[in-house]
Amino acid sequence: MRILLCNDDGYQAPGLVALHAALSPIAEVQVVAPEHNNSAKSNALTLNAPLYVHTAPNGFRYVNGTPADCVHIALTGLLGEHPDLVISGINNGANMGDDTLYSGTVGAAMEGYLFGIPSIAVSQVDKGWQELDAAAVTVATLVAQMKEQHFVGTAAWLLNVNIPNLPLEALRPAKLCRLGRRHAAQSAIRQENPRGETMYWIGAAGAARDASEGTDFHATAQGHVSVTPLQVDLTDHQNLGYWAQTMARLAMAGQTA
Ligand code: MN
Repeated sequence: MRILLCNDDGYQAPGLVALHAALSPIAEVQVVAPEHNNSAKSNALTLNAPLYVHTAPNGFRYVNGTPADCVHIALTGLLGEHPDLVISGINNGANMGDDTLYSGTVGAAMEGYLFGIPSIAVSQVDKGWQELDAAAVTVATLVAQMKEQHFVGTAAWLLNVNIPNLPLEALRPAKLCRLGRRHAAQSAIRQENPRGETMYWIGAAGAARDASEGTDFHATAQGHVSVTPLQVDLTDHQNLGYWAQTMARLAMAGQTA
């Protein structure tokens, strides 16, 4: 089994290093990751600047680009054969609910999925890397089970996994979840720079608004590993009927005007 490993925290991040170590006994793992922290870069691609790939002494490749850049060039020229699996993480902090729209960790995995490869985004719920080894072992165990049961190498799918920062014996089994929702982000932070100019920092993410049973927020708060299958289609399928009627009315109003 060949795994392409990426992240958004940068190629030196402890989460990437730990996951590489945990996966290496069960797969051939290639790391292609951003040179610097690219959290919240979502699916961004760099179109207006060249990308350079360097190899660190430990064999990790790093790129002066985004997480999606890394996976994109890995799959379109850098690596020979496509990997069987793309894994992104382990991220420093949760990617639950609305986070998945902003997350570079999810963006890297989504890029793999868009190329037809099964892909997993993995995050630890709390920042700071506490119990990182337990999270890495959890991912490796999940991947080994998936391989054994032939979930890898069939169709493309995209999973978003969040792991509570708990020791292995305290972690509860993986639970299938839907995404929760967050409140709007907190206010921007306004400061003055040393030259007297006003600058703004994006405020912290909002607290959970829908953390009800069945969500990733709920499952991880109970100590479970949350597993959410994601899709890329943003179409509002539920309201297509409503919009069909609305657009028909708009067209009729246009004719009589
Ligand atoms: Mn990150």
